[in-house]
Amino acid sequence: MKTIGLLGGMSWESTVSYYQIINRTINGQLGGLHSAKIVLHSVDFHEIEQLQHAGAWDKTGSILAQAARSLQAAGADCLVLCTNTMHRVADAIQRAIEIPVLHIADAVASSVRESGIHGIGLLGTKFTMEQAFYRDRLSDMHGLKVLIPDKHQREMIHRVIYEELCAGNINNESRTQFAEIIRDLASRGAEGTILGCTELSLLVKQEDSPVPLFDTTEIHARRAALWAIS
Ligand code: GLU
Repeated sequence: MKTIGLLGGMSWESTVSYYQIINRTINGQLGGLHSAKIVLHSVDFHEIEQLQHAGAWDKTGSILAQAARSLQAAGADCLVLCTNTMHRVADAIQRAIEIPVLHIADAVASSVRESGIHGIGLLGTKFTMEQAFYRDRLSDMHGLKVLIPDKHQREMIHRVIYEELCAGNINNESRTQFAEIIRDLASRGAEGTILGCTELSLLVKQEDSPVPLFDTTEIHARRAALWAIS
């Protein structure tokens, strides 16, 4: 079995989910007392979040590249970055290490394609929904048609991610608002929706949606686990 390098803490609420899903997947495949070989580097999210909102992406890239090097040195065979947003600097991280970065957008795009869906809604931080690094990868590399919520909805989603979910607060009113946004995207032609933030599945469940949801945390973690035993 290969060793998975988890670069987490963004936020730690979702890194917990990665740890559970990877171990459950490995145990489900191998049975008995099998569990995953994992090394974890968990950052202080306060520092990263301040730099994100200041637009200092190069600085976040060098912090995460340094962390990735430490995981490689600790014996990781691959790198799993436990956040969609920070894939903004995935190329800088990959340049710093020899082991492969298992890209979250590639993992979720494969799942969407396998389901036969073409038009897909995308929920995440404003960075993920609005910037090219994620949307263009889904459309240009994987041929998906990506729909995002309107500006007012994007602002609400962004606020809920940073002020509620990353702080461990699960709020029913926010869940209702997310369900409305997902229905709205479906009425605009989204045949499914990507939960493109690793904390979103803590709030939104399949029963809140009339269309299939693609949870990036579940998909990414599961693919990493299967990669480790392939
Ligand atoms: N975990 C979130 C994501 O998947 C947001 C936190 C971050 O900015 O990294 O994008």
